[in-house]
Amino acid sequence: MPTPGEISLSHNGILFLDELPEFNRQTLEVLRQPLEDGHVTISRALNSTTFPANFVLVASLNPCPCGYRNDPRRECHCTIPQIERYMARISGPLLDRIDLHIEVPAVPFKELSGPHDGTSSATMRGQVMAARAVQLNRFQNSSTRQNAQMTTREIRAHCRLSDASMNLLRTSIQEMGLSARAHDKILKVARTIADLASSETILSEHIAEAVQYRNMDRNWWG
Ligand SMILES: [Zn+2]
Repeated sequence: MPTPGEISLSHNGILFLDELPEFNRQTLEVLRQPLEDGHVTISRALNSTTFPANFVLVASLNPCPCGYRNDPRRECHCTIPQIERYMARISGPLLDRIDLHIEVPAVPFKELSGPHDGTSSATMRGQVMAARAVQLNRFQNSSTRQNAQMTTREIRAHCRLSDASMNLLRTSIQEMGLSARAHDKILKVARTIADLASSETILSEHIAEAVQYRNMDRNWWG
């Protein structure tokens, strides 16, 4: 009898994969369909069972095998082929399905121990709740609940761009060689950034920020 695996146990929650390239590549590829559909079907010789698997995937990885590439404090001695082999363990189609790619530089000691400034969790929660309310209103006649779930038709209806934003998006897609899936993700993320900023229109700055979150699609050793 098939039993629910990690992704079903993460249903309606978060699946965190630390050191993503250390996972077996075939295992990672299996994540692709559930990430799209929100469920997983396990087939055995006699029958197949479908389990729910609607989870938020959060993953981390080092910039190279030694972990010090782009770090001003330590020198990285990894060769380009070593870095290429390391990054190649994560396929383009899997990266394509991850909405936000963010580089997190090492935090200097004095900032770790100093007073904390920046947005508090309470303020951030307020912003998120307001953006969710906008989306609830936007999709009141649809089975969609959040921007991330928008269909192609909904993207066309709710992500209209000015000529300037359209040009920026076109140039970014061409320069970075992005896929159609990445194009749709940029629009959905830009819609969310605009919602968080209480802006009914998606502005160029929202597109620019969304494009920036695709940085794993770029030439990552440059
Ligand atoms: Zn290195």
